[in-house]
Amino acid sequence: MSRILPAFALALAVGLGALLPRPAAAQDLSALARVDPAGSLVSDRSGGIDLTLALSQGVPWRVFSLTEPDRIVMDFREIDWSGLSRLGMLNSDLAADLRFGTYRPGWSRLVLTLTEPLALSRAGMEVDPATGRARLSARFEKVSAEVFAAQAGAPRDPDWDLPEDGLPRPAPRDGDAPLTVVIDPGHGGIDPGAVQGGLTEKDLMLQLAQAVRETLIREGDTRVILTRNDDAFVSLERRVAIAHEVEADLFISLHADVLAYGRAHGATIYTLSDTATDEASAKLAERHDRDDLLSGVDLTGKDDVIADVLMDLARLETTPRTEALAKALKLSIEASGAPLNSHPMRAADFSVLKAADIPSVLIEVGFLSSQRDRKNLSDPAFIDRMALSIRDAILAWQQADAAMRPLIRQ
Ligand SMILES: [Zn+2]
Repeated sequence: MSRILPAFALALAVGLGALLPRPAAAQDLSALARVDPAGSLVSDRSGGIDLTLALSQGVPWRVFSLTEPDRIVMDFREIDWSGLSRLGMLNSDLAADLRFGTYRPGWSRLVLTLTEPLALSRAGMEVDPATGRARLSARFEKVSAEVFAAQAGAPRDPDWDLPEDGLPRPAPRDGDAPLTVVIDPGHGGIDPGAVQGGLTEKDLMLQLAQAVRETLIREGDTRVILTRNDDAFVSLERRVAIAHEVEADLFISLHADVLAYGRAHGATIYTLSDTATDEASAKLAERHDRDDLLSGVDLTGKDDVIADVLMDLARLETTPRTEALAKALKLSIEASGAPLNSHPMRAADFSVLKAADIPSVLIEVGFLSSQRDRKNLSDPAFIDRMALSIRDAILAWQQADAAMRPLIRQ
C-alpha cells in the first residue's frame, strides 16, 4: 500500500529518511524529482479544481495563496519540469494561467492563476513504496472573495524562505574602483519572458549579458556584475537593489520581448518615464511588472512621500546622464549595422529602471515577435556583435560622462 503524507509531514520526513520504510528502488531525497507529464493535470471537477502532479520521487512541498490576481502557489524542493507543457497540463476554466519553473536555486515553484476564488480543501503526496514514485493530489473548492482574501498570504518560513539579505550579495566597491557596470539579463527561472520560434528571452538575454561581461572585462578596467548568472528568478526590485549594493555607475537591462500588436522590430532603447511615449511601450512595462508579480512575492511596502521627494532630486541629476547613455547605445548599435527600431528611443514606467541615482536603461535588442529579429537573435555572431556595440556605448558614455560631470554638479 502507499502512504499518504501531508505537506509538512513530508518536509519533516526528509530528515528522518532512514526511519521510513525504504522503497525497493533506492530513493535519494536530495536529488531532483522529475515530473511525469503524462500523469500531471489541472482539471475542473464539480465546480472546483483537481491538481495532480506525478513525480519520479517524493519532495518536500508547500502550498499557499496570493491575491491580486488570485492565485495558488506551490513550492517544491526540487523539480525538473522538462517535458511538461502549460497547455498540456492546464485543462480548466477556473484557472487562467499556469506557470512553473525554478524559483531560486534549489527551489521550484508552480503558480496557478485563478479566474474565481478557490481555496485548498485537501492535499497529499502519495509515495509508492515499490517504485518510489510520488503523486501529489490537491483539491481546490470555491470560496467567497472575502474568505480567499483572509486566507491569502505568503508564509514566512525559515526552512523555505531565504532572508531578504540571504541572497548572494556582491561586494560593494572600494574607494577608487573602476567603472562598475550592472548588466541585467531580463526574466529568468519561472518567468521565461517571451518564447517564440524555439527561442526563449531569458536564455538569450543571459547569453548576451555574459558576452557583454566578457568583452568589457577583456577591454580592461571595468567591473561587471550580472543580476543573475544562471536560470533563476530575480524580482525586479532585487535587480535594482543589486545595482545599489554594488554602487553601480550604470545599469542596463536586456530584453527581447514579443509585442502583440504594431510591427515592432529592431533594437529599441527605453528610459524611465511616468508617462509612456506610446501605447506599446506602456503595455511592455505593464507586462514586465505583471510577470514579476505573478512569479514572485513582494514583501516590501510602498515608498513614503519623503523618499519620493528625495528620489526626484536624485533624478534631476541622473536624467541627463541616462539620456546620454541611451543615445550612446543608439549610436553604437546603429554603427554596428544591427537593425534599429523606427523610433529607437522610447520611455515608459519600467520598475527595473527605478534606481533614482544610477543611469538606467532597458534595451529591447530585438523583438521575438519579428521574424527578422528572431533570425538575428538565433545567430551567435549577432549576439557577439550586439555585445560589442553595447560595450562600445558604455565606454563612450564613460568618457563623455566624466567630462560632463563637473558641469552638472555646478
Ligand atoms: Zn522582457
